[in-house]
Amino acid sequence: GLSRDEVIALRKQYVSPGVITYYREPMMVVEGHMQYVWDDQGTRYLDAFAGIVTVSVGHCHPKIVEKVKEQTGKLQHTTTIYLHPTIAQFAEKLAEKMPDGLTRSYFTNSGSEANEVAILSAREHTGNTQVIGLRNGYHGGTATTMGLTAHGSWKFKSNNAPGIVHTHAGYCYRCPYGLEYPSCDLKCAHDVKEVIEYQTSGEVACFIGEPIQGVGGAVVPPKEYFQIVYDIVRQHGGICIADEVQGGFGRTGKHFWSHQNYDVVPDAITMAKGIGNGIPLGAFTTTEEISEVMTNKIHFNTYGGNPISMTQGLATLEVIEEDGIQQNALEVGNHLKDGFLALQEKHDIIGDVRGMGLMLGVELVRDRKTKEPANTEASDVMEAMKQRGVLLGKGGLYGNTLRIKPPMCITKDDANYLLAMLDEVLGE
Ligand code: PMP
Repeated sequence: GLSRDEVIALRKQYVSPGVITYYREPMMVVEGHMQYVWDDQGTRYLDAFAGIVTVSVGHCHPKIVEKVKEQTGKLQHTTTIYLHPTIAQFAEKLAEKMPDGLTRSYFTNSGSEANEVAILSAREHTGNTQVIGLRNGYHGGTATTMGLTAHGSWKFKSNNAPGIVHTHAGYCYRCPYGLEYPSCDLKCAHDVKEVIEYQTSGEVACFIGEPIQGVGGAVVPPKEYFQIVYDIVRQHGGICIADEVQGGFGRTGKHFWSHQNYDVVPDAITMAKGIGNGIPLGAFTTTEEISEVMTNKIHFNTYGGNPISMTQGLATLEVIEEDGIQQNALEVGNHLKDGFLALQEKHDIIGDVRGMGLMLGVELVRDRKTKEPANTEASDVMEAMKQRGVLLGKGGLYGNTLRIKPPMCITKDDANYLLAMLDEVLGE
């Protein structure tokens, strides 16, 4: 194979600079098994970021590899113009995991496409155009989803998707009003009414929000937040869509979907990442009624619902059930969070510890009172953790939140190693 230096040189010449790498010395990953990956030098790393929260049940999980190998040797692709069993099987299995009434799925290759179809369907269904998103949210890299994304996309001058406005996300650690929960009376949630009435025509197509923000740095709004927002949006004619691209598939531990942590039932769910354990697969699932807007219209996705992705999706769901993955996400996630909270007592740089299950964030600050974001420090911590064999993610409003979202097969021993190394690194 090519050496690391050769890969770097070829990338520089032939790959768009839009394709970014992590780390000052980008690492070359050549193999992955369950919660670990190996670089070109044969060094093993605990992958606590799971290929950006994608490898849900483990790299190259043997049960999934076996099923996909079999399918690959039999039939790889035809497009959905012909019948094939896998799309029907996977859609049925997915519907079993859904809240009541959400039975119909449209398959895509990515989360961006799933959100595009969601917005299109909401606009067609309601006859309204206005879309409400959350500040600091991330929803994709296509035209409309970039407009919906309130994290980073503003760096592109041509990012201009009309009809989309943003409301406060329930980021209590940095409350825009300087209030505290619960005496704040959920002002941030009630604000959506003003956003709708003052910034839109008042006729809403949909609200799309991540129940726990991923790229935004594990922001968990208060329990009542989504109930209030969903109510107000519905009063203005809109449907409510949960972007479960990062939070779904058992990652938050207690529930299969992250929105269930708030006792709300969305009208539609968008998925990607963890749904396919690392291959291009996304879905938009909604009610029979809303799905009917697609009838007799042409909206075609060449690779959506292809036999390989469907087989991988089905096998991933089976593994989540058979391997007790969700329970493990809850137990190891709680253990990790307790560990981070203990480290917070010891290290002043930890301003906030957030998240549920294995969707955790540790926000670093230079001063606990001013909450000045420690963003360069967060990068330093990531580098130092990599030296110790642990790969973390980074995100949040200021790029100062460490993101910990490993494959859900991670063990308590792995968690203890991660905690011990973070303790050592923060001590420096
Ligand atoms: N929604 C969320 C919550 C995401 O985190 C992402 C990707 N980071 C997307 C949508 C877009 O998914 P994709 O990159 O597969 O298009």
